[in-house]
Amino acid sequence: MSKNIIKLKPKKEDSLLRRHPWVFSGAIDSMPDSIEEGDEVCVVDNKGNVLGVGHYQIGSIAVRILDFGTDTLEGDFYLNRLTSAFRLRQTLGLIREDNTCFRLVHGEGDFLPGLVIDIYGDTAVMQAHSAGMHFARHTIAEALTLIPEARIRNVYYKSDTTLPYKARLDPENEYLIGSYDGNIAIENGLQFNIDWLKGQKTGFFVDQRENRSLLERYARDRHVLNMFCYTGGFSVYAMRGGAKSVDSVDSSSKAVALTDANIALNFPDDERHHTHDTDAFKFLADMPKDKYDLIILDPPAFAKHRGAIKNGLIGYRKLNTKAFEKIKSGGVLFTFSCSQAITKDMFRMAVFTAAAKSGRRVRILHQLSQPADHPVDFSHPEGEYLKGLVLYVE
Ligand code: SAH
Repeated sequence: MSKNIIKLKPKKEDSLLRRHPWVFSGAIDSMPDSIEEGDEVCVVDNKGNVLGVGHYQIGSIAVRILDFGTDTLEGDFYLNRLTSAFRLRQTLGLIREDNTCFRLVHGEGDFLPGLVIDIYGDTAVMQAHSAGMHFARHTIAEALTLIPEARIRNVYYKSDTTLPYKARLDPENEYLIGSYDGNIAIENGLQFNIDWLKGQKTGFFVDQRENRSLLERYARDRHVLNMFCYTGGFSVYAMRGGAKSVDSVDSSSKAVALTDANIALNFPDDERHHTHDTDAFKFLADMPKDKYDLIILDPPAFAKHRGAIKNGLIGYRKLNTKAFEKIKSGGVLFTFSCSQAITKDMFRMAVFTAAAKSGRRVRILHQLSQPADHPVDFSHPEGEYLKGLVLYVE
């Protein structure tokens, strides 16, 4: 048994027995002083019965459980978990010649709390959210190359923004295995330059793949406005879908350049597309009414934690109100929230309030969420974060 034993207070084991993987610091009765952040620890109930093994972290979530009902991680723990994550993506039909990017590991949703891995062709881009995963990074990188059939050759580690900054781990963004060897990924037959070195998160938002596909079906002959475009994912799909015009807006000049490059890669010299390096709220305020009949609002998370929910909801309400005021009658609005702290119902209410305020008649066509390569563990509902509504506005 691990020397690091964390004993819970009486009756604090229930959530772990239901396989929820977090132990909050307030549930801990005792633990040795020698435990350090990132250590592998064994969690026991107040009577000493083993509950599981996980990574210790300073903070309100004190332990993230990696395996239940055992006191140590087996030697090939990571390879086994990664292989089963890969099998799931095979089952989902995501690994094809015309689709080379997908999420391989979605933290708790793949029973690997604290770890996110996206795949772009033969490169894995890995982000650790806990000290334990940071310390395990070389083992994980090695295991990635051993997953049968996965053919992963490069592993890029990118945790400078995801690790708790107080942990003082000095993470370097670096290749743990292999090196840069071209970065064009294919999603549903469309090509994307993925810049994991400079881009946000792992370089691309793979979580919008299916919602982009749905948008493509609505794009024919429409004038499309893609707000918060980042790499231009929605814009590229709208172009293929036969849009009359596509305007992509982002306040980051880097994002606008990425969008331009991705449009050029798929639709060189196509004059239907234009980018705008400007603030979304300003663009919405300045644009004429009735110009667009397909609008996408996919902003960054307005509420990154619970304390920000109230202001976040005000932000979603304001943004959507503007879109409702300006969209052409018969127009379709794709509106999203990726704030984990904001529930589906809260978001829906914010958008409803915006619709009511604008006086438009609005119907819900689709209710969207994250795709299956971002699975939600039943025991860990907190893993659900992306929500979207497709609305018909008259
Ligand atoms: N829709 C994108 C992801 C959006 S990420 C996709 O499918 O990949 C959020 C984007 O919003 C970032 O690129 C960021 O630069 C941009 N952004 C943040 N605040 C903004 C603002 N006030 N106006 C315009 N863009 C903004």
